[in-house]
Amino acid sequence: MPRHRPTPPLALPLIAPVLVLLLGIALRTTALTSALDPPKLVVVIVVDQMRADYVARFQDTWRGGLKRLLTSGAWVRRAAYPYLETVTCAGHATIATGAFPHTHGVFQNIWWDRELHKQMTCTQDPRVSNVPYAAGVTGGDSAYRLQVPTLADALRSERRARVAAVAVKDRSAIMLAGHGGDAVTWLGDSIDTWQTSPAYSTEPVPAVKSFLDANRISADFGKVWDRLLPPSLYPTVDDGTGEAPPAGWTTTFPHALKGTTGKADDSYFGQWLRSPFADAFIGRFAAALVESLKLGRHEGTDLLGVSFSSPDLVGHGFGPRSQEVQDMYLNLDRTLAALFDRLDSLVGRDQWVAALSADHGVTVIPEQLRAEGKDAGRLSPPVMTAAIEKQIEAALGRGPHVAAIVGDEVYFHEPTAEKLRGSPDLVKSIIKAMAAMPGIDRVFAANDVRGAEQSKDPALRAAALSYVPGRSGDLIFVPKPGWITAARGATHGSATPDDQQVPSLLLGRGIKPGRYDQPATPADIAPTLAALAGIALPRAEGRPLAYVMQK
Ligand SMILES: [Zn+2]
Repeated sequence: MPRHRPTPPLALPLIAPVLVLLLGIALRTTALTSALDPPKLVVVIVVDQMRADYVARFQDTWRGGLKRLLTSGAWVRRAAYPYLETVTCAGHATIATGAFPHTHGVFQNIWWDRELHKQMTCTQDPRVSNVPYAAGVTGGDSAYRLQVPTLADALRSERRARVAAVAVKDRSAIMLAGHGGDAVTWLGDSIDTWQTSPAYSTEPVPAVKSFLDANRISADFGKVWDRLLPPSLYPTVDDGTGEAPPAGWTTTFPHALKGTTGKADDSYFGQWLRSPFADAFIGRFAAALVESLKLGRHEGTDLLGVSFSSPDLVGHGFGPRSQEVQDMYLNLDRTLAALFDRLDSLVGRDQWVAALSADHGVTVIPEQLRAEGKDAGRLSPPVMTAAIEKQIEAALGRGPHVAAIVGDEVYFHEPTAEKLRGSPDLVKSIIKAMAAMPGIDRVFAANDVRGAEQSKDPALRAAALSYVPGRSGDLIFVPKPGWITAARGATHGSATPDDQQVPSLLLGRGIKPGRYDQPATPADIAPTLAALAGIALPRAEGRPLAYVMQK
């Protein structure tokens, strides 16, 4: 969202630039900035679904990039999202903007669009058609639903940044970049369907095209994913209860990337996405763009956004206690080592700064928790819908009244929503019925949540920080710890520590190495990086972490 400065009247050709300069100085002096010259390149790395406890659990086996982040960087050990809807789009938007969903507007991956009467993704943009790098690309996406500028947007307008962002997931690449950028690339629903949006480029970007022409996903066909280390170094079992591998794989190593038919088809693609080969591809892609776009090698501060989506897909299928998850991070440690080495040689060892965090954590597979006697289970949106319909039917007649349950949000069809606004007792009875269901901790009406960001009730506060007027549901429920809304495997999306706590690691120019135990959120990352680059992010709600910055 570039802000347009008013055109100065002709009689005052010199005053306007002076005013702009003074305003710039005022902004800079009120913001905390680093005493060092700004970095040439800012690298924002998101590892999709990385739980905070993975660092402590797996660090002894790391030797590469994750190890370098821990030993040469700043490890902020108590970072956690304060909001309810802990999902990919919300997390990336929070890391990228430094604001929370109630401000940046992207509170879920998908929500019910009340005007169009259908579910929309956080990036779906009906005004545009995506720009393909190969056949099979459909749809149109952009960050137009993101209501504030990203760090990348601010660097583009104030530090002449070139911006590249790459991920398997559309929402990850798009949110890391924001409202513009030079090479913003993601993968569609089938093999090799890399694409961008006219929001970034109306033509394929030559640097991206030449990498993708030389690097095909089908090139990994026939490879085998096996453990990097001897099995004895994986303390958990390989065939954990409730694991849900993709088609063609079992719960145990090794996993051959041969699809179900022996061809590089959709089932192979599903396996590739759930393997370390996808992360390695993304790492190579990112390094190639730094080289070909000459990021970090001109006047200003550039930004590279990289999101590793495959740890999320592996975590959903095999769960956070699986050997597969541990091995993904061993591989990511190597992928990051290679990326950091390339940054050292292309940009200069002391010229770049990186931050690594996650968009959310994940809850353990409920069947594994139940086997330990814990309260855990699966919430079923169809069962919840039936219970709500029954409550309403007695008062308002036959439905359907419920339009959708998405994430932790219940949407009513508008005629029902209107009648419920005049029937507070009926709303109370629906809330009571929902709250009596197993696995549900709290249920709020949208009215209770609106404006409750300062509430002392942590569940209500979390719901309020995820609340976006017009986009959020009519009712919002808060699952109990151990309870998830997925029919198989593991998932996230609650206000529990499992889903909210993530690592926050910073490395490079201007960063003071160490371990820090002050409470923090991932919304502090963008303001910290902005401060190192000498700019401010006026819409951010996080703050620069002064203690990780060199004086
Ligand atoms: Zn996920």
